[in-house]
Amino acid sequence: MEFQSQLSKENNKIPELLVPAGNITVLKYALEYGADAVYLGGKKFNLRSYGSNFTIKELEEAVRYTHKKNKKAYITLNSIIFENELPEFDAYIKSIKDIDFDAYIISDPGLINVIRKYIADADIHMSTQLSTTNHLTVDYYRKSGVKRMNIAREIRYDDLRELIKNSEIEIEVFVHGSLCISYSGRCMLSKYMTGRDANRGECAHSCRWNYYLMEEQRPNLFYNITQESDGTYIYNSRDLCLLPELERLVDTGVSALKIEGRMKTESYVAQTVWVYRKALDLIREGRFDEKSKNSLVSELDKCSHRDYTKGFMFLDSFEELENNEDVKIKQDYKFIGTCLTEFSENGCSEILVKNQFRKGDVIEILEPGLLPRLFTVEEIKIKRKNYEFLTEEANPNDIVLLEGLGNINLFSIIRKKSNNE
Ligand code: SF4
Repeated sequence: MEFQSQLSKENNKIPELLVPAGNITVLKYALEYGADAVYLGGKKFNLRSYGSNFTIKELEEAVRYTHKKNKKAYITLNSIIFENELPEFDAYIKSIKDIDFDAYIISDPGLINVIRKYIADADIHMSTQLSTTNHLTVDYYRKSGVKRMNIAREIRYDDLRELIKNSEIEIEVFVHGSLCISYSGRCMLSKYMTGRDANRGECAHSCRWNYYLMEEQRPNLFYNITQESDGTYIYNSRDLCLLPELERLVDTGVSALKIEGRMKTESYVAQTVWVYRKALDLIREGRFDEKSKNSLVSELDKCSHRDYTKGFMFLDSFEELENNEDVKIKQDYKFIGTCLTEFSENGCSEILVKNQFRKGDVIEILEPGLLPRLFTVEEIKIKRKNYEFLTEEANPNDIVLLEGLGNINLFSIIRKKSNNE
């Protein structure tokens, strides 16, 4: 049965779309494709130790750029911090105090005072790492001056509605991206097996490895405890995708919808943001029907992903959370290029090639705010410093001109169906 919103259209405030930015390139794509705000990490305390992350100079540039676009930039400082690291945390906050972040995302409430020591009016957002599941916790942090709480992914929809109804500060929820087996990322598996602490941004994703049984007298003999021929997975979580329930989420009055993935590429972020922006626009216009939902979900299928789940929020059975039968990441489309120059003298944008494609291939161009369009490659011209030549195939790092394509948006994502070879 189609969901009926209980809010009038006029009151139906569209939440902020909050998007991850692992580097300045991704940040620019995120904003261009419709993010209202981005979250990013510096080189310290940010819970994504293996992302490229931003130097202090890059943070300054990122915030300047974001504000020029009239959007918001939040810094993540949500790693666990031990006693001996407090002086370093203090020094780090001092070093970034003049950067005009719109909010500071933390998970340790003790750090609020350190931030406020240098930035008296700092807006504080509490991270998902706190696993907040009720309005009493929200209220506790409200009294400490916190502006926004990210709610645990483990909450049920009806509880979320009640929590928001009873809360006086902004509430944010994750709508898309990878999930953890553990409660809101509080997991020791990776630390136990590899020494890499997920709570310090170093997760080795041990929950997704394939496992065998070994008897102690028979080392090196691995028994297959079959769930399937490749081995057994202790918990291979599907990826969260709440797009089909987006209207119900908007109806709760939630303030922000967050996409996971500060390690993701510009192609993943652009495509995902394009979809959620479109969905939110359709909800605003009262046109988010089954047909548009299905077509937007099929757009999400073009990004690399595991099978999707609606997560704990709309869970009917635990099986909906994992898929140990099919553990491979789905990658039906390849990211084959970006635009290097929007306008060129000969009226044809230069493309920087990321993955191989050939003459005769049908490629797809995604541009901010526009429907994706198909284009058949009839001529590939490779551009070198002083000369150009025609070729049958384009390879990574080539700069090419595609006859007939014309000028495309500088932030275009060019992709191709993987089996189109
Ligand atoms: S090992 Fe798996 S469950 Fe644990 S933090 Fe990493 S991704 Fe999450």
